[in-house]
Formats: sequence, structure tokens, C-alpha cells
Amino acid sequence: MTTETSAQASTKPLAGRVAVVTGASSGIGEASAEHFASLGAKVAVLARRADRLDDLVARIAKAGGTALAVTVDVTDAAAVQAAADRVEAELGDADLLFNNAGVMLPAPVEELRTDQWQRQIDLNISGLMNVVGAFTPQLVRAAAERGVADLVNNSSSAAQNLYPTFAVYAGTKAFVTHLSKHLRMELGPKKVRVSAIEPGIVGTELQDHVTDEGASAWLEGSKETIDWLRSEDIARTVGFIASLPLRVNLPQVFIMPTAQPS
Ligand code: NDP
Repeated sequence: MTTETSAQASTKPLAGRVAVVTGASSGIGEASAEHFASLGAKVAVLARRADRLDDLVARIAKAGGTALAVTVDVTDAAAVQAAADRVEAELGDADLLFNNAGVMLPAPVEELRTDQWQRQIDLNISGLMNVVGAFTPQLVRAAAERGVADLVNNSSSAAQNLYPTFAVYAGTKAFVTHLSKHLRMELGPKKVRVSAIEPGIVGTELQDHVTDEGASAWLEGSKETIDWLRSEDIARTVGFIASLPLRVNLPQVFIMPTAQPS
């Protein structure tokens, strides 16, 4: 930042930064990777679908950016560590981590969809922690060397609000929000800004994985009265968080479609 002119800083506020985005093969993660690259960051994109990541990297390169595809299942801690090592070797220490991969599988608790409970816990909690564990050393090193680093965890408005049949998903997201507050206490003094972002409904593939008919009908019906958020809205918000002056940290950002009541 110190070597840039103010004009460069305003158009490319993430120039010189190394961003990592999990869940980058679709939805919010995909839009965020493209946006961070447009703001000047080198971006490592992580997810399981290699073909989607390769397309994304090609689009970013065509637009003049730099991106690295790393195919990884974030529920596999050893694989995430290997991914982190590769990012460090090829791009340098990450200084912006958007910990975004997640899944939402609502269903009435009495249906005992224990397979879906476990998938949400494995990805939204354990997977998120694997990523925190593998990349925190890089964030701390980068903050010491470059003066700032950002850890942005994607939580949900479900961490705050009550949605019938969303208990397990909401529980995983409450974990993410509360975890973020605690990490902020530990890492803030080391110049790592920690944020939890809590979006309301965003139109992505997330809704396509829902198997419960009642929840699907509720989501589909809400489209009639609510102009859902778009992935780009979240991407721009996270880009804004990371572009703020180094002294400024937004610990918790609640972002809702204007017409979504809760
Ligand atoms: P998508 O389903 O479009 O994106 C989910 C991403 O996670 C995909 O890129 C998927 O890629 C990746 N992913 C899934 N499982 C794994 C895994 N085991 N390892 C690595 N990557 C994985 O949904 P969104 O973009 O909406 O979701 C992103 C985040 O936003 C989630 O945490 C979600 O909870 C949160 N959120 C979404 C809201 C919404 O309404 N859409 C609202 C509030 C929060 P792949 O399958 O290739 O691995």
C-alpha cells in the first residue's frame, strides 16, 4: 500500500494482496474471487469442482488478473494444509481469507435427517475450522510483514434470526459468528482483522441442494415478494471490508435483501 500512488490505491485497493476464497466454484465465492481480482489481488480459488475453478481462473486471467485453482475438499484437514502450502509456494502468504464454503440443508428436526445434519456440521464447522487452522499462520505472518490481513468468515442471517426447520444450519452459522468474535479478540492485536458476514437470502446454488419440500416451497415463494441479494452484492461488501484503512475493522456485517423482514 505504501508504494502505491493514491490513484492506484483507489482503483486497485487490493493490489499486492494475496486472497484465498473457499467455495469459489459457484455463487458468492465465485463472484468474490472475480471481484477481488478486479481490485488487484492475486486470488487462490478453492473448491472440489476442478472444471469450474479452471473456467474461473481463465476468466480472471483474460481480464488481466492472476488466479490459482486449488482443487480441495475442505472437510479433509490434510488436504487443506497441502492447499495452504501450495498457495504460499506459488503466490506467497495469504493476507485475505474469505472462508466461504458452506451448505444449507433445512428439514424438520423430527425427520431425523442425521446425514444432512452431519454434512452441514462437517462443512460449515469442521471444514471452516480446517481452513482457519491451515491459513492463520500465513495471515499472522502477512500482517506482521505487510501491516494488515483479513479473515472474513461467511456466516448467515440465520446466526441471528429464527427460520423454521433451519435449526442445524442456523446452529452452524451461530458457531461461525461467535467463533469470529473470539478470533478477533486473539488476532486483532496481531493486525489480522476478523469479520463475520451475515447475509440474508442470496440467489445461488445453495437453494438447489435443499431436499425438504416445505423449505423449498418457502424459499421459492419468497421470490414473489423479495428481490433476493445477488452474489455480487456480497462480493462487493467483502471487497469493501478488505479495502478499508488498516485501522478500521467491521467485525460483524448483517446484510439483507431490502424486503426480507427477518
Ligand atoms: P453455493 O452452493 O453456490 O456455493 C457453495 C460453495 O461451497 C461451492 O463453491 C462448493 O463447491 C463449495 N463446497 C461445498 N462443499 C465443499 C467441500 N467439501 N470442500 C470445498 N468446497 C466445498 O452457495 P453460496 O455461494 O450461497 O454459499 C456460500 C456461503 O454463503 C455458504 O457458507 C452459505 O452458507 C453462505 N450463505 C449463503 C446464503 C444464500 O442465501 N445463498 C445466505 C447466507 C449465507 P464444490 O461443490 O465445487 O466443492
